Amino acid sequence: MADKSFFIDTTKCTACRGCQIACKQWNKNPGTKTLQRGNHQNPPDLSAATFKLVRFNEVEVPGGEPKWYFFPDQCRHCMSPPCKEVADGKAKGAIIHDEKTGAVIFNPKVKIKPADLKETREACPYDIPRWDEKTGGMSKCTMCIDRIKEGMLPACVKTCPTGAMNFGDRKEILEKANKRLAEVKGTYKDAMLANPDDVRVIFLLVDDPKKYHKFAVAENTIGITRKMALKRLFQPLTSLRHMIG
Ligand code: SF4
Ligand code: SF4
Repeated sequence: MADKSFFIDTTKCTACRGCQIACKQWNKNPGTKTLQRGNHQNPPDLSAATFKLVRFNEVEVPGGEPKWYFFPDQCRHCMSPPCKEVADGKAKGAIIHDEKTGAVIFNPKVKIKPADLKETREACPYDIPRWDEKTGGMSKCTMCIDRIKEGMLPACVKTCPTGAMNFGDRKEILEKANKRLAEVKGTYKDAMLANPDDVRVIFLLVDDPKKYHKFAVAENTIGITRKMALKRLFQPLTSLRHMIG
């Protein structure tokens, strides 16, 4: 099985939330009570019961109508997942990187301490890992690995009625994403692909990423959080000390 990727074309997302519901249904995740919080965001955030969340962001336009930005958020299945780098040192087997598909899988059965979850979440440039109270482990999007190994599309992609969600072999998905980017550039000069070389879930955005979601695009060089960069900086020194000691 080849290396896989998603392409999420936000210009085609109508915020129907079909992907969000299909994800819950396939993963047998319980519903979350809908509440009026003065906006359309329901549930309020990703959780152990919500691996896929359409984020709604209303942006005021001076002198005009407010504008909506829709962002179907999920784990990006990073090429070199920083979450795994941290978790490997905390709880062995808590995060698995599937060689064939590239899927980054959390094993919710491997127990992890709340402090370790916090560190793992901080390492994720997209703020994805969540605590699963029921198992004492971590949870997030699975890339629907059980479906794709049987030749099916991920549930969220299969359900999307507008073509916003796409999935396939990485080479073809990158071609599709770049072709679409070139198409929309004429209309949206700020159009961009979010960290395409570093992630397997590639978003097409046509405006300032912060208008979609705080964590739409990685702030720093992906795979290297501040803490990890410092650790790497001092690693040669640590190794030297070991050798001398
Ligand atoms: S998006 Fe976050 S949780 Fe997902 S693979 Fe990357 S670092 Fe890990
Ligand atoms: S790939 Fe599967 S688990 Fe991940 S967001 Fe889509 S439906 Fe949910």
